[in-house]
Amino acid sequence: MFKSVSSKVDFSKQEEETTKYWKKNKIFEKSVTSRPVNKRWTFLDGPPFVTGMPHYGSLLSSLPKDLFGRYWTMKGYRVRRVWGWDGHGLPIENKVENELEIMRKRDIEEVVGIKKFIDECKHYVNVVSSDWEWYVDRIGRWVDFKNAYKTWDTNYMESVMWVFKQMYDNGFIYKGLKVSLYCPHCSTPISNFEVAMDADNYKDTKDPATTYKYQLEGEKNTYILAWSTTPWNKIVTPALAVNPKFTYVKVKQGNEFYILAETTLKMLEEKPKYEIVEHIKGKDLIGKKYVPHYDYYAKNANGKLFEIIGGDFVTAEEGTGVVTIAAYGEEDLKVMQEQGVHIETHLDDEGTVKPEVPQFGGMYYLKANKLVDEDLAKRGLIYKEVDYVHRVPLCWRCHTRLYYAPIDAWYVNVKKLKPLLKQTNEDIHWYPKHFKHGRFLKSLENAPDWNISRNRYWGSPVPVWECECGERFVPGSIEELEKASDKTIKELHKPEIDDVTVTCKKCGKNVHRVPEVLDSWIEAGSASFAERHFPFDQTEKLEDFFPPDFISEYTGQIRAWFYVLHVIGGALYKSQAFKNVNVTGVILGTDGRKMSKNFKNYPDPAEMLDKYGGDALRLYLLGSPVMNGEDILISEDHYKMQVRGTMLILWNVYNFFITYANLDGWKPKAKVSKSENILDQWILVLLENLKTNVTKSLDGYDTVEAIELIKSFVNDFSTWYLRRSRDRVGPTAEDEKDKQAFYQTSYEVLVTLTKLMAPITPFIAEEIYRNLTDEESVHLASWPASAEASKNKPELLEHMQVVRKIVELGLAARKENQIKVKQPLLKMTVQLDEQTNQIDEKLHYLLLDELNIKKVEFTKGKDETTVVLDTTITDELVAEGQVRELIRKIQEERKKLETSLDEKVNVSLESWPVQFTDYIKKQALIDTLSEGNFEVTRLG
Ligand SMILES: [Zn+2]
Ligand SMILES: [Zn+2]
Repeated sequence: MFKSVSSKVDFSKQEEETTKYWKKNKIFEKSVTSRPVNKRWTFLDGPPFVTGMPHYGSLLSSLPKDLFGRYWTMKGYRVRRVWGWDGHGLPIENKVENELEIMRKRDIEEVVGIKKFIDECKHYVNVVSSDWEWYVDRIGRWVDFKNAYKTWDTNYMESVMWVFKQMYDNGFIYKGLKVSLYCPHCSTPISNFEVAMDADNYKDTKDPATTYKYQLEGEKNTYILAWSTTPWNKIVTPALAVNPKFTYVKVKQGNEFYILAETTLKMLEEKPKYEIVEHIKGKDLIGKKYVPHYDYYAKNANGKLFEIIGGDFVTAEEGTGVVTIAAYGEEDLKVMQEQGVHIETHLDDEGTVKPEVPQFGGMYYLKANKLVDEDLAKRGLIYKEVDYVHRVPLCWRCHTRLYYAPIDAWYVNVKKLKPLLKQTNEDIHWYPKHFKHGRFLKSLENAPDWNISRNRYWGSPVPVWECECGERFVPGSIEELEKASDKTIKELHKPEIDDVTVTCKKCGKNVHRVPEVLDSWIEAGSASFAERHFPFDQTEKLEDFFPPDFISEYTGQIRAWFYVLHVIGGALYKSQAFKNVNVTGVILGTDGRKMSKNFKNYPDPAEMLDKYGGDALRLYLLGSPVMNGEDILISEDHYKMQVRGTMLILWNVYNFFITYANLDGWKPKAKVSKSENILDQWILVLLENLKTNVTKSLDGYDTVEAIELIKSFVNDFSTWYLRRSRDRVGPTAEDEKDKQAFYQTSYEVLVTLTKLMAPITPFIAEEIYRNLTDEESVHLASWPASAEASKNKPELLEHMQVVRKIVELGLAARKENQIKVKQPLLKMTVQLDEQTNQIDEKLHYLLLDELNIKKVEFTKGKDETTVVLDTTITDELVAEGQVRELIRKIQEERKKLETSLDEKVNVSLESWPVQFTDYIKKQALIDTLSEGNFEVTRLG
């Protein structure tokens, strides 16, 4: 006997029970350890930020991670699944700053002290929210929480140190003055990809766009015009740049002469009318001197000053074809370095104009904008000023507006790595495919060198001890550092690590570490190695886990995590960093905006999980276009539909099977003869194809297709196979052999189906599988092997399709003639079109039964398949129809009385066609049938 099943199922409650069962019996652990150690499928988890709360986005990325983990486990592989926490970096520092009421970065050192600040950071990350575990259980994700790796653990940090060392030794790390996006509040450079991850990190801002006049030295009333949107940066203008290839013109307007690119003449004011007096080649302007607007830094200058230089990057799209050059721009700084222009920085690390700057010293840089332009306007040095709206980047952490600043920092030489990175990208299987040569390749091509140092505190140290003489010591392990410093090292964080000094090998001086910490993306990108404390822990060989078989995250990580993994994989091993990657889209709020508590534009995920459960969420999201990298709007309806659709349909089929199998005391048999029933044969062929096709989809990481296949199969199983098989079982069924065949077939289908569904909907699959078998768990079972789909009797499938098409037409014809299906009819004529082959006679009975017709005749015709009903209704047919209706009424009453399926009842009817007395009694399980008011009563 199987455990009896109720049609009133609460999936959510049932899932909670299943979770308890899994935990109690250590099914997850068993699913890992029961697979051979030397046959692995490796998965690398992108760790969530330790302070983050679970949301639909983090739940979404958990689903493919769980699905493919279960799938490959069933295919016989050992799949290690360890959770990780990301906990270094600005988000934690900002939280602690708020808690300690720190308003400015320098207070960390001057007021609070680094030690206390770091202790607070540690305290903060070690109180991990327990919410995660609840969500992870509810969505059915199997992952090892207890052994979660943490990026701030010493072991993890030591591996990161080793990664840095490898990159350094391989020549991919350099120190240099380069321009980075910079946050004046956090006083640290910010990676451009950190900003680019989220559209909210930009805002439209109105700034003045000013055309400045720079007088050419020795040429009175002659000005070169230069356009700029950063007045604060005009305080220092050591050079102007022109494009040597452009043609410039000198025009006379009023009493003054202006020089600008010929193609930009339209920017000149209309009045007074100007005239062109001279054409000048760009290259002929190079070397000319101009009169600076401010020259306080001239006395300390080191290099070219107040000179026109040439630069190919100068465009004439906006402005005048002349660019003011200063250190606060990427192209600017590059050309200054190349051409030996004096480099002057006039902002401090909090975005304030340095105190030694006359007039503007001590001002926040944006505040200087207005005053600079006012001053220059007063002095007649502004040609015109207009408002200009543009998108500016914001700090992803504190939302302060960023600017480009020259920073002396540590960089990964991405430029040098690029050819390799493009080549190793070819080895990655991207799902969906288009990201490979689309967004990912583009972000590789456009990537600047990666600034990996932060002028902050809470992070892995930049492991470089740099002597005044230029000599550097870069240890790759704690042991190496201990030897060099003659100290025992327990702590790699600031401030302790800064007390560790080594002796310079070249000059013998005492050397300190450089002050910076590493960008936490270096840690995320080192996860493959660091989560295993590689290479210090040698229990696993590199080739056993690198590159991992699978990673999955949302589209924002294309430029971020996927990118940093790939860079580090390339720099260390000239290898791609992962074999397969599944990129999901983003789940947006119901209104198409980003989900936000303020907008109230999404249903609470905890509430939804409680209501509909984890399987339904999995079916919903894993089957939606979000798995193909597209963005979707969250929809409670779509979520709910999974329960009412596939899950309940399957449950009802299962319920039917269990109910009748128990009634007949049926037990699965080890050896069975092949069913002669065409429906059984058909559903088994469909099942074979399902095995083949679901395997193919999941091998290709296509969850959407796998779920479509399963949904469509469950539908066929219920609405055709079971619907046409209902009469094969129960007390009225007569063909014992056929009954056995039905049970055996349904059983086989259900057992195989639950295995195929196990990775997708682990709860319902487990529930059904465990009731049907004596096994401990479907997740310990093996994936069903599949035959070649093409061998699977295509003609039977084709014939069944024709049958179902004819049924559809027949039902439509009944509707058109307003004859209910309950009313038997004598004959139907089916005209098959030329392409459709005659269907096997064995299938005819399905048509007769389903359409309640006594005879079917086939003809051939040119047009599409048509159906004609013989609508003659004889007295005999009327009586048969009445009998069917009476039986239906009695069955309904039986249900109300909750009689068991084989229980006999007494029935009184006002009248019935007497020639059908025995038939009615038999079909409705009637003991005594009498005349009277309609009534169904239990015996005794
Ligand atoms: Zn910031
Ligand atoms: Zn030295």
